[in-house]
Amino acid sequence: MSASASPGPPEAHDHDHDQCVAGAVARMEACCAEKGLRLTPLRRHVMRILAQSHVPLGAYEIVDRLARDGENVPPMSVYRVLDFLVAERLAHRIESRNAFLACAHAHEADEVVVFLICERCGLTKEVSSHAVGRDLAWAARASGFTPRQRVLEIAGLCVRCREADAAPQ
Ligand SMILES: [Zn+2]
Ligand SMILES: [Zn+2]
Repeated sequence: MSASASPGPPEAHDHDHDQCVAGAVARMEACCAEKGLRLTPLRRHVMRILAQSHVPLGAYEIVDRLARDGENVPPMSVYRVLDFLVAERLAHRIESRNAFLACAHAHEADEVVVFLICERCGLTKEVSSHAVGRDLAWAARASGFTPRQRVLEIAGLCVRCREADAAPQ
């Protein structure tokens, strides 16, 4: 049993972030190579920053983190990189938070992406479901509706915050 009831900072959780970053950067390199897109140092740097965080980051937080790494980049340039990452589906925009999350998956067109967002610590987990996608496509068709974006954002409590609640004081 853990002596501490505090969930700690949400980014300090129990896996190796170097792997998240290496995976995300590798996916980005493969995507750019395949499509002949330019992988600029800034695109790479923003991807590393996003992949290090499992809490979605706003554009200005990314500007701050770049500055901490010694790179002073105007927000407009960061927005342009974010647009690129979202367009290539290397990152997702979390609408409810106006923030961005690196994506480690290769999505298929009919897939619904579901974000489980912790309202307390901000930790955001991405899950996807073909079953949900099929049901939603069916419901949309029945309404004569053409979906443009298939993203669901679910607010709640992550496992760490829930366990922290359950622990004796
Ligand atoms: Zn994704
Ligand atoms: Zn949480």
